Amino acid sequence: MLRPGSTIGILGGGQLGRMIAMAAAQLGYRCIAYSPEKDPVAGEVCADMFTNDWHDAKAMAAFAQKCDVITWEFENVPVEPIVPLGKRLAMDPRALETAQDRVLEKRFVEGLGGRPAPWRAVDDRADLTEAVERIGTPGILKTRRDGYDGKGQWRIASARDAEGFSRTGTPLVYEGMVRFEAEFSVILVRGRDGAVRFWDSPHNVHENGILATSTLPAPAIVAGQVEPARALARQVADALGYVGVLTLEFFATRNGPVFNEMAPRVHNSGHWTIEGAATSQFENHVRAICGLPLGDTRTVGSAVTMENVIGKAAATAHKALSDPDAHVHLYGKASAREGRKMGHVTRIRHD
Ligand code: AMP
Repeated sequence: MLRPGSTIGILGGGQLGRMIAMAAAQLGYRCIAYSPEKDPVAGEVCADMFTNDWHDAKAMAAFAQKCDVITWEFENVPVEPIVPLGKRLAMDPRALETAQDRVLEKRFVEGLGGRPAPWRAVDDRADLTEAVERIGTPGILKTRRDGYDGKGQWRIASARDAEGFSRTGTPLVYEGMVRFEAEFSVILVRGRDGAVRFWDSPHNVHENGILATSTLPAPAIVAGQVEPARALARQVADALGYVGVLTLEFFATRNGPVFNEMAPRVHNSGHWTIEGAATSQFENHVRAICGLPLGDTRTVGSAVTMENVIGKAAATAHKALSDPDAHVHLYGKASAREGRKMGHVTRIRHD
């Protein structure tokens, strides 16, 4: 168990790190962050900040020296430079390695009995033609690595679209389009002792590949598919010897849950837990990596809606403060680029 006053190192400097640091402060820990990005939003709430390249081994070692335990908030932290962090790293870098590559991720989940959308790896034009022939259209081409918030994705409506696609050359994956009734996520926390707790699964709505809202209670189709989805998520967490918050995203279909992707970290679809659950995903992540007892994950209130504040909407987000049910979170990002997650608003009903 990590003593109060100990230092948690966070790899990455985004809003997830910022909210981890805020939860850690409440439990008496101090956080320092490491990110190549200048002025990251987590830096504002951390005691110290390393602004260095991921591959700067000297800086990484100096950072590690100052930390009692290390976690990540960013999924695309390169694995190689963090392997030397060894036991100080609370989570196994295998989790990152798996989640960073859509092909490894799908194979891993299939190996555990999970069912992703039909897919094929696409390394060149011939692969693409074959993938479209085998799987059919419509489908989605995604970069194997580094995609997020709908970036690095192209919809393929017809074989002719595939013929006109000019970006083969980067490793891609082609997925059949899933006709889903709803999307949902399973958010769990696993302690150092292997104990697992789940939050209620929210219904997630994406717009242009970006999460727009997460709501609870989820519709009946989701509620009916949470159990097998949880069983898979637990297997993933156990197989990785995972510690902390882990998220799996699913499509609820007429034929049961279809695995979409996993995130070995706290997740946007779990932001509602800050006010909507007895213990938030951020606090339980801190508890898990510090070896503290996990907190109750029960939902408080009868209905919860988390709405992301995207791009320019941040300028007027404070308007929601006049709603007594609303909790406004802004991440302190300087530029409101289109499609950028600037904050979120959670509304809780108690009736
Ligand atoms: P991803 O970044 O892979 O989670 O994709 C972002 C969003 O695009 C998902 O949450 C879905 O709304 C949509 N999407 C991605 N892949 C598929 C698929 N194979 N079938 C249908 N919709 C998809």
